[in-house]
Amino acid sequence: MQTNTRASQATPDVVVIGGGIVGLACAWSALKDGAIVTIVDPDFEGDRTSHGNAGGIAVTESTPISVHGLFFKAAKWLFDPLGPLSLDWKHVPAALPWLIEFQKASREDRFRSISHALAKLNNRVYDDIVPMFKDIGAMDTFYRRGALTVYETDEAFRADSSEWAFKRELGVRLKTMTAAEVRDCEPSLAPVFRHGVFLEDWSHIGDPRQLVTQLRERIRELGAQFVVGRATALDPSDALLPAALLASGERVSGRRLVVAAGAWSAGLAHSIGDRVLLDSERGYNTTLPAHGISLSREVIFAERKFVATPLDIGLRIGGAAEFAGLKALPNYRRSDALLTLGKRFLPGINDQGALRWMGHRPATPDSLPVIGRSPRVPAIVYAFGHGHLGLTQSATTGALVADLLANRTPGIPLDDYSIERFRK
Ligand SMILES: Cc1cc2nc3c(=O)[nH]c(=O)nc-3n(C[C@H](O)[C@H](O)[C@H](O)COP(=O)(O)OP(=O)(O)OC[C@H]3O[C@@H](n4cnc5c(N)ncnc54)[C@H](O)[C@@H]3O)c2cc1C
Repeated sequence: MQTNTRASQATPDVVVIGGGIVGLACAWSALKDGAIVTIVDPDFEGDRTSHGNAGGIAVTESTPISVHGLFFKAAKWLFDPLGPLSLDWKHVPAALPWLIEFQKASREDRFRSISHALAKLNNRVYDDIVPMFKDIGAMDTFYRRGALTVYETDEAFRADSSEWAFKRELGVRLKTMTAAEVRDCEPSLAPVFRHGVFLEDWSHIGDPRQLVTQLRERIRELGAQFVVGRATALDPSDALLPAALLASGERVSGRRLVVAAGAWSAGLAHSIGDRVLLDSERGYNTTLPAHGISLSREVIFAERKFVATPLDIGLRIGGAAEFAGLKALPNYRRSDALLTLGKRFLPGINDQGALRWMGHRPATPDSLPVIGRSPRVPAIVYAFGHGHLGLTQSATTGALVADLLANRTPGIPLDDYSIERFRK
């Protein structure tokens, strides 16, 4: 255990469970409010989802993953062993309730209400993330250059047109591009793209792992206490001082607990009787440190469902959605399949020193995170389930959680994100 004097002498105001980008952002916001904060994680330095993501501040992604018609496409993808979606059939019984709710999220009325709820978070992202980046010294590796979605076929571009129109309604600024404009915008792309959509408000960072390290070190500087351990359950028996029970037998108690353990959060919520549907949507990528091409911004390949981001540490090519639970070994052939596509659409990339990676997106079926108090134990606050947008929404989640911890009215109403939506 690593301590600091002020924190080690006093009962923490806040115990945050989970040291990924979301837990760290919650800790940072609480510390900025003057709280005494303890953070618990089994391995602060170890790999985590927040280290290997695509680095996109994807504020324009305000529609749920479960778009209308996806189920039919998904059925086709499932028969392609290295396609964008895969489901381990052994995992199906456990995933079934999640899959049923996922399908329901694509219904017109749900789709629209989820989108508005996502937009409420995404539309304030820069107000929250810029102050955090400034405070931790991350502004010089924060690139506000937009992103480019590219289409190989007229058919796919036409099929997405109503979604783009709806995104405009949600406040997303976008500009459609011709084939020539796409080539001017990103000359390294193969000349096969017939349409593009430029997303002005998207941005990316230089290295997600470095960002986590900077935030963690800043939190240490601000006085947080770091406890190395895995929480196995929550103990609310003392309502004024709930505790996280660790695998070591230790209890870590505080006036408030924040559950921010990413894809591992469901068991902790269940331990106090709060039901939630959360699954790991496993994603893959490859980082190419010596890629040798020039790309200015993140590119999203619409039909193939993968992205390429020019990080400071190399070109990261990734995507995929694999449902196989938290324990199955990674199937790095998925990284390889994405790299093959990357080579086709970014000709001439050099894969020397390529590094493959898999991470667990904490996915709810409706693509909305869980942010808010436990209805059973109001001193326990949830901050997990950010799916594809955990980096993007990290500082905003931290700010909203800090409002709850300080008994302020949250900056936006939190009903849409409440864990109560999973009550049967
Ligand atoms: C391929 C891929 C690309 C992505 N690209 C983007 C992107 O471009 N932009 C974006 O915004 N998001 C992206 N994401 C999603 C984003 O990475 C996640 O939403 C985000 O990292 C989740 O952060 P987290 O802190 O909730 O979880 P994690 O980073 O997984 O952190 C959870 C932490 O909890 C700890 N923990 C687990 N169990 C316990 C326990 N029992 N007790 C104590 N601690 C525990 C873990 O050790 C870990 O440190 C991507 C994800 C993937 C997989």
